[in-house]
Amino acid sequence: MPVITETAIRELAAFRSTGSPVVSCYLDVDGQRQVRPQDYEHRLDALLRGATERDSRASKADLEAITTYVRNGFDRSGVRGLALFSCVDQRFWQVLALPVPVSNSLMINHSPAVEPLEHLVHELEPLGVLLVDRQRARMFVYQFGELIERAELFEELPRDYDTRDEASRGAREREQHHTDELVAQHLRHSAEVAFRLFQDRGFAHLSVGGTDDIHAATVASLHPYLRERLTHRIHLSTTASDKEICVAALEIEQRLETEKEAALVLRLRDSIGSHSRGVAGLVDTMGALNDRRVATLLVSDGYVESGWRCPSCGSLARKGPTCRVDGAEMVHHDDVIHELVDIALRTGCAVEVCVGNADLDVLGGVGALLRY
Ligand SMILES: [Zn+2]
Repeated sequence: MPVITETAIRELAAFRSTGSPVVSCYLDVDGQRQVRPQDYEHRLDALLRGATERDSRASKADLEAITTYVRNGFDRSGVRGLALFSCVDQRFWQVLALPVPVSNSLMINHSPAVEPLEHLVHELEPLGVLLVDRQRARMFVYQFGELIERAELFEELPRDYDTRDEASRGAREREQHHTDELVAQHLRHSAEVAFRLFQDRGFAHLSVGGTDDIHAATVASLHPYLRERLTHRIHLSTTASDKEICVAALEIEQRLETEKEAALVLRLRDSIGSHSRGVAGLVDTMGALNDRRVATLLVSDGYVESGWRCPSCGSLARKGPTCRVDGAEMVHHDDVIHELVDIALRTGCAVEVCVGNADLDVLGGVGALLRY
């Protein structure tokens, strides 16, 4: 399975058809919800039918290529979503098997629509998961929807301490003290296991699961590199199944992504409020992108608006048809947001597609943090 990285996305986005447009299709093939292939095949048919009715530019050859690929059967193991890009006219064909589900969509443009991938790649950063109790530790690295790495530690505690008689009370207290020390040592060892896996594999965030006291003591034992990566606590015990861990890990990643988006939108609001390095709304954002001032482009997921793009200088405009920069005749685009993201990716801007962020919607669905 090709790994989805920022670089892979930029490479994909760099393709531009000079002939008929590229058909980009995202299809949810998640086996947990759609057991039989017919389930997603029906959805694909509906998606393609909708596209032909809506957009006359949809080439029959591309729609057929996509149908053939999906219907001929592909290796579904570990695949929960498909991203297909076709432009038969220019002999361009790319399929990405995605380890996480995507929402069904079909887009027709002169370059591949990579916005949904741009959003996914952030959710796919590796996450460390450490589950601990008094004598056991299980450490995992979660990425691409699965547990890609694991380590275990078991340090058994003495069992026979509480069976002594009253006469040896002093001895029992000493033994209790000894047990506490063993537990504390075990938690330090657990933190070391986590650090070793971090050095081997690397992960962006670490989530620790355990009872309140165990959690607190484990966190206190973590290497500073890990403590700064510490994120939301995972509410699972050491006996959790792989599936439970994957579900909880994905939830944490989605939460982190939502928080990251919220923080960026808040920064955008603040910079607009203080009139420094921030713009919102389509017209101002286009202007900032035309001037190459954008550092981070923020777009609400699903926001579509029409506009113009100049084929000679690449400037975007809300109103056409004459380019204000060089007077050239601009091209009208039904989805100028796609052009906006396209130019941002080409010129090295960070792009953040925000899902369900009402604050960004209020700002006009699009905005940018500026370099100057
Ligand atoms: Zn121009």
